[in-house]
Amino acid sequence: MEDYIYKRQNFNQREKLRKKRRRRKIFFSSVGVALVLGAGGFFLRNTLLPKLQEAGDSFVKAPLPEAGNPGEAPKSEELPEVKEFTPKRPAEKIPAEKTAPEVKDLKRLKEGSNHSYEASAYAYDTRDVKAWMRGRKDFEGEKNLAFLTFDDGPHKNTEKVLDVLKRHGVPGTFFLLGDNVDKNGTPLLLQRYIEEGHGIAVHSYSHDYSYLYPGRSARPDRILEEYEKTRTSIRGHLGESFDTHVFRFPGGSMSWKNMEEAQNALLAEGIVDIDWNSMSGDAEPKNRRPATSEAMGAYAMKTFRDNGDRKVAVILMHDVQKTTPEYLDHLIDEFLEAGFTFGILK
Ligand SMILES: [Zn+2]
Repeated sequence: MEDYIYKRQNFNQREKLRKKRRRRKIFFSSVGVALVLGAGGFFLRNTLLPKLQEAGDSFVKAPLPEAGNPGEAPKSEELPEVKEFTPKRPAEKIPAEKTAPEVKDLKRLKEGSNHSYEASAYAYDTRDVKAWMRGRKDFEGEKNLAFLTFDDGPHKNTEKVLDVLKRHGVPGTFFLLGDNVDKNGTPLLLQRYIEEGHGIAVHSYSHDYSYLYPGRSARPDRILEEYEKTRTSIRGHLGESFDTHVFRFPGGSMSWKNMEEAQNALLAEGIVDIDWNSMSGDAEPKNRRPATSEAMGAYAMKTFRDNGDRKVAVILMHDVQKTTPEYLDHLIDEFLEAGFTFGILK
């Protein structure tokens, strides 16, 4: 009997012990699971998520570099496409490097355009600029808008013009000749236009009046042919993703016959031609050419006012002229003081 009681007690104690061990086991495995989950969460919160958010943020918040035109309201639709990035189930299936959006270099050529991502903020559609300039449409901007345009380059003076623009932090549009791109263009120079926030346009390949306008009448086929040839030369330095839809007729569209046909042939290819409504006078005959920097600035402002004073100035200059980079400082100041901001043509 005693033996039985003893056995019974023993059995009860063993049973208790077993239960206690099971409880302890459950307790410790729960603690283990909690620890693992906690550590995982901590890892996600402190390492992986910030990394993912940082990747998203650095893209969203990438500031526009200072160069260019500080006063002008950015046209946001032209900035690289930004998508809010919220990781839903991080870590598990989607590796961070695949989900984080590609970070764009804002000074790089925007694919299929004539300017950098950065310059998109102040790049204006040439069709609009033409309409504003001619008074066919009212410019709604708060400040007046100026386009510094430089024809006939690249040339040994071009770097000097670029230096002046850089010093003032203002952009310009360069109407290149294919022939000069082939003779004087280097990948470094062509990239400089883009990296420093300027726009590139086409001004024919040869600038040869007798070829482009035989008998003073425009030949649309030759104009298109030279447009293509020049774009190919530029692409030789900037790559296939370069494109431009901006053209200026050598001598200006007002100087020749059969222009409607030529303009329509360009338009059919999505190319818009543009003249100017302000002249620096840098290519005028010597007796009329402004002889000081003050005179050049005043000449540009006067021709702008004489041409209707319509808030939008497209200023004709030539980087091949020796005095242009020397006089340019004053011209820029003159337009800045008159309340203009600066844009590029696209
Ligand atoms: Zn020219």
